[in-house]
Amino acid sequence: MGHLGNMKEEYRDLLSRLDAGSVTFPEPEAPAARAAWRELLEIYYTPEDAKLACCIPARPSRLDQIARRTDLPLTALEARLDGMCDKGLVMDLVHPMTGEVRYYLAPPVVGFFEFSMMRTHQDYPKQRLAELLDAYAHQDRTFADEVFGGETVVGRALVREELLGEEDLPEVLDWQRATTIISEARTVGVGICYCRHLAEHLDRACDAPQEICLSLDAGADFMIRRDCARPIERSEALEMLDAARQAKLVQIADNVRKRPAYICNCCGCCCGQLQGINEFDLPAVNPSGFVPQVEDQICRGCSRCSRSCPITAISMVARRVEGRLANELRPVIDLERCIGCGVCAQECRKRALRMVQRSEPAYVPANVVERVARMAIERGRLAQLIYETGAGRSTRFMNNLLQVLTNLPVANRVLASEQVRSRFLRFALGIIKDPTA
Ligand code: SF4
Ligand code: SF4
Ligand code: SF4
Repeated sequence: MGHLGNMKEEYRDLLSRLDAGSVTFPEPEAPAARAAWRELLEIYYTPEDAKLACCIPARPSRLDQIARRTDLPLTALEARLDGMCDKGLVMDLVHPMTGEVRYYLAPPVVGFFEFSMMRTHQDYPKQRLAELLDAYAHQDRTFADEVFGGETVVGRALVREELLGEEDLPEVLDWQRATTIISEARTVGVGICYCRHLAEHLDRACDAPQEICLSLDAGADFMIRRDCARPIERSEALEMLDAARQAKLVQIADNVRKRPAYICNCCGCCCGQLQGINEFDLPAVNPSGFVPQVEDQICRGCSRCSRSCPITAISMVARRVEGRLANELRPVIDLERCIGCGVCAQECRKRALRMVQRSEPAYVPANVVERVARMAIERGRLAQLIYETGAGRSTRFMNNLLQVLTNLPVANRVLASEQVRSRFLRFALGIIKDPTA
């Protein structure tokens, strides 16, 4: 970060604190993106907000735990945090049974970028925000590399279940089915699609539905409480899933197996995640466990599938087809690029594309702690994450984190131990035998 010298200390500290999150807010190189980054920082955070944000540990924390790091009385602190929750800078997570509140500093994505544009109140200058967010994300690839540049990313594609053959259905796990995820959710909220809303401010939104971003459980509780979503019945959410499929949208969920916080319904033109693939050639979405397979004899070479793929993973190639005299066009699928959404198979009127199991399915983290830990390790920030949790060795968060770290493949464990100079952690990871030696 070469241009921080003339920045207020509160903002420098804030950027360093955000470095402990799953996604940071890096300074870009290109002047237009850098100017946008700086203005965004000041629109989102007052210097006072920035100072308070630095006191919030990286794990979800109670009011009294945060209070120990500030000089504010509890009631004043609560009011300040409440204001930051309204701005989408902090998430207040309320336990559904006990009512205990824990505060969590929101990263830029999925976080204050989205919340600020989805909130129905006009408390942000949304037109200006849209221009700045667009410049920050697209005038330079720094932010795209940050979000999508590691093996672990924030979203995973869901296959269209109705396209799977009878023989595949028993193999489809509950966390791979959008309908099961919705049916098992305690709370569902629907909000305005951040990406298309942003594109609308820039006069380039497509005509896909906007009120279709589904948040679930704790994510939905927060979104509803903070006017970023409205509560809906599960049956209405299932109808929305169906409408999204009819509109040829790609369903992308939180990249975890347990309790995903959202299901997005995304278009190839406006969606920030799909743009990560289309614009920056990054593996921005974790693929579903399925890929399309072409039935050469049924295919008529019409190219509908190729035109419908939201990430241009299908090329039409002239080739010899068994039993035909002349070369014919057939789709060739780039399996490295394909995210297994099934839009192409849905669009094929001849039913010549079948969604089949991917031979080596991509790994999906079990839960948010694992996703955050993997992202931190891959981006070289594990030490920052552990330091900013403010947690002792025996807290539940550290126990969860250690459990995740010890179950990582050896290469990741070595990477983790290189980032954290802790004999205790290296011992826990099995890198050294004696923590006291
Ligand atoms: S990720 Fe998809 S559904 Fe979510 S806000 Fe973006 S385009 Fe909309
Ligand atoms: S849409 Fe179907 S018939 Fe047309 S090229 Fe694709 S696979 Fe073949
Ligand atoms: S090839 Fe088909 S399944 Fe793969 S990303 Fe494109 S539309 Fe989705």
